[in-house]
Amino acid sequence: MTGIKHHLNDALLMAYSAGTLPEAFSLVVATHISMCDDCRAALAAHDAVGGALLEDTAEVELAPEALDKCLAAIQALPPKGPIKLPKSMTNGSAPRSSVFPSPLAEYVKGDVEDVNWRSVGLGVRQAILPTSKEASVRLLYIPAGAEVPDHGHHGTELTLVLQGAFRDEFDRFGPGDIEVADPNVEHTPVAEAGEACICLAATDAPLKFRSILPKIAQPFLRI
Ligand SMILES: [Zn+2]
Repeated sequence: MTGIKHHLNDALLMAYSAGTLPEAFSLVVATHISMCDDCRAALAAHDAVGGALLEDTAEVELAPEALDKCLAAIQALPPKGPIKLPKSMTNGSAPRSSVFPSPLAEYVKGDVEDVNWRSVGLGVRQAILPTSKEASVRLLYIPAGAEVPDHGHHGTELTLVLQGAFRDEFDRFGPGDIEVADPNVEHTPVAEAGEACICLAATDAPLKFRSILPKIAQPFLRI
């Protein structure tokens, strides 16, 4: 998909590559990656760095400049083909969906009309998807022109647009765009006029998410 302006950050790509994200965040990251060539390429680079460092650090004491050399060597490599998502996320049994890319269609087991939507007021509907408990992920259906009600969030929040677009105090987010909102950020997303906005949004508690990043950096960087 072209025209994507808002991407995953390095911390998320690194944590996804290391397999340390909660399931809810992994689903949002995998869905964005399935829509975004840039982040798919960036993930391949992270996977290569992680693999190379893990191989080298088992018995050999690395020179201080080893990481820079490794990164330079990886950057000099020709690009790899598309990354492979875990088999459970990509097997062909998921129904084809016009709105939901395959990692997500697998969770929903269908298309927009198959979702078990619940009203949360003012025409906005949501459906919480079953994942492990460290974080939660939901589909949001926001009618054109409507505001997302009751939008206080306590943790890091990832919001991926699947259809339509929303605006908040910071920018416009269209199909494929992902907004990474800090716990301290207060924002009020409003769906654009025209088409209903359908998003995939994951949230967690801030302390939990912050604790993931130092942990995943340790095996790579030996700190
Ligand atoms: Zn991207």
